[in-house]
Amino acid sequence: MKSKPKILLVNPPIYDFTAYDYWLKPLGLLSIAGTLSNSADLQLFDFLDRSNDFYADKPKFKSNDFGTGSFYSEKIPKPLPLKNIPRHYNRFGLPQKLFIEYLRQNPPADFAMIQTVMTYWYPGYKEVIDTIKTHWPKTKIILGGPYAILCAKHAESLNADLVVTETGLDKLFNYIGIANNKSLPPSWQLYKKLDTAAMRISTGCPFKCTYCSVPNIYGSFKSLSIQNKLREVELLVKLGVKNIAFYDDALLYKSSEVLVPFLSEIIKRKLSVNFHSPNALNARFVTGGLAELMVKAGFKTFCLGFESHSENFQKLTGSKVFSDELSSAVDFFLAAGADKNNITAYQILGHPNHNIQETENSMKFISSLGIRIMLSDFSPIPGTPDGEYCRKFIDMDEPLNHNKTAFPIMTIGYEAINKFKNIFHNLSDKL
Ligand code: SF4
Repeated sequence: MKSKPKILLVNPPIYDFTAYDYWLKPLGLLSIAGTLSNSADLQLFDFLDRSNDFYADKPKFKSNDFGTGSFYSEKIPKPLPLKNIPRHYNRFGLPQKLFIEYLRQNPPADFAMIQTVMTYWYPGYKEVIDTIKTHWPKTKIILGGPYAILCAKHAESLNADLVVTETGLDKLFNYIGIANNKSLPPSWQLYKKLDTAAMRISTGCPFKCTYCSVPNIYGSFKSLSIQNKLREVELLVKLGVKNIAFYDDALLYKSSEVLVPFLSEIIKRKLSVNFHSPNALNARFVTGGLAELMVKAGFKTFCLGFESHSENFQKLTGSKVFSDELSSAVDFFLAAGADKNNITAYQILGHPNHNIQETENSMKFISSLGIRIMLSDFSPIPGTPDGEYCRKFIDMDEPLNHNKTAFPIMTIGYEAINKFKNIFHNLSDKL
């Protein structure tokens, strides 16, 4: 009988100025792996796995109550395009030598599938490709994920054998040449220990915000099978997971058809787990009833996408939400019993239209609601209207220039950014 092909899944290290583990898991990679789990021999090397034994004697990286925490990091020289950014540049994640040891101690896989996320993290993807090429030269390397889709030409220069440049996976499955079963859950069991996980109950988004890549990558909103997703939660709870982050981009859209039946069933089946929403909830869709259901079903943190208090900016970038809608959503969550310290509104910092964004007023507005502010430094994404506009300021064909710490400094200036960050810290201290 023909033996199953061996596939190594790799979640690469992050090369950036900052990185923090807000439930970062390679959900896309594990989902694809899940569909192949009956016909392939799968293994995982996750550089961002903080439950790895490497962290056992390093208490400062211990997770907080909701499973988030810092990554091990090493300071490294800044690449040329970022040399003038006055911040330390780091490599976050397990040391490279652990991966080399792994490759030396194990027989080579037939395929290595590498997850990508941010475009400007490509030095980490390159490190993984080069390491595999050196130690397992016959292994076919497959690169997929947002970077491969958004910067296809650049991704092809990294020397992988296949770059999956679209969300459809036919090309990938044809290349591997084995059967897949789309109803199987992500391969979470590949982790030795697992405290946190991520899931989606839908893909896409009905909005088209000018700074966001979701409409280009995932298209319009589609719900996934609720029954399969409930089985996924049951599996995760069995594996010992305490915290699950939703990676949905429009989790609250059409909630009566998707989130409400899903959460009602979570309550009915007495599945005890904390839910989080790092990808931002749309305040427009929060009602009193929905907020109550979310709190009852186990939601602990509530991140709301806001970006700016300026109506002009809100309309110019896609009208996804207005200030009064944020304010009502906060009232609903508080009335439902959510902890105000766990309600956060995201605000963009360093957008090319920052002159109409009313950055300081926006922060003051969020703070006046008694909730936390999270500044999301703007990263120009190729193919989005705002990203394409940024070709005026930077070379968008060099993904390092999309870096979220660097771009606001390059366009607004270090002092102005620091001024806003100081206001942010002062407002945060008052909460
Ligand atoms: S609502 Fe959110 S996910 Fe949808 S396009 Fe806007 S920013 Fe992107």
